[in-house]
Amino acid sequence: MLIQSDHIIKWMELVNAQIDKQKEYLTQLDQAIGDGDHGINMTRGFKEVIQKIHQTTYDDIGKLFQDVGMVLVSKVGGASGPLYGTAFIKAGQVLKGKPEITINELGQAFQESVNGIKLRGKSQIGDKTMLDVWEPVTKYIQQNGNTLNIRELISYAREQMEHTKELEAKKGRASFLGKRSIGHLDPGAVSSCILFETLCSILLE
Ligand code: ADP
Ligand code: MG
Ligand code: MG
Repeated sequence: MLIQSDHIIKWMELVNAQIDKQKEYLTQLDQAIGDGDHGINMTRGFKEVIQKIHQTTYDDIGKLFQDVGMVLVSKVGGASGPLYGTAFIKAGQVLKGKPEITINELGQAFQESVNGIKLRGKSQIGDKTMLDVWEPVTKYIQQNGNTLNIRELISYAREQMEHTKELEAKKGRASFLGKRSIGHLDPGAVSSCILFETLCSILLE
């Protein structure tokens, strides 16, 4: 399958709709182990993303990703804005100048996103953050490439998200709780799962 700008735009529209639907849930998750603004941060960010990308037509997927990232960095307060923003900006650099991409290329771009999140967040796998979804999901996409089974990818992303419940937070606000963070899902892992699930539904169309 070849992915074009239209797919990415539809993806962002679906992320926006899904995040808006789950705003209260994301807020509740962040109330348990953070400051309760993750739902607000994410809805604001993706609303702005939609406004921005509807202003332009894109024949460069890299530019589209970079615009998404710039909006998230500049419009979203909190840790998640700069981290999600970095993820999209870094992916955009890999995809620069490409009017269409393969799943393999998307996987390579996400690998740069992962590197960017790690660098910016000084985080690693197991810290109970969004990275606990981003890194394994990216590996999974890269390992399976164009033979990727999208439905299996969805279950895999959900498993990774669920796994954050067992972890003790080492980064971000939840880390202030130490062991008391165990037993709760990480809000950023849940929003990241929404991101990958909606991507999958676009790829299944
Ligand atoms: P804030 O914590 O500033 O209020 P949000 O509530 O919007 O920001 O986002 C919190 C999420 O950001 C966490 O659930 C976690 O997934 C992610 N996060 C926080 N700090 C880091 C970090 N250093 N590295 C990776 N992800 C992080
Ligand atoms: Mg928060
Ligand atoms: Mg906050």
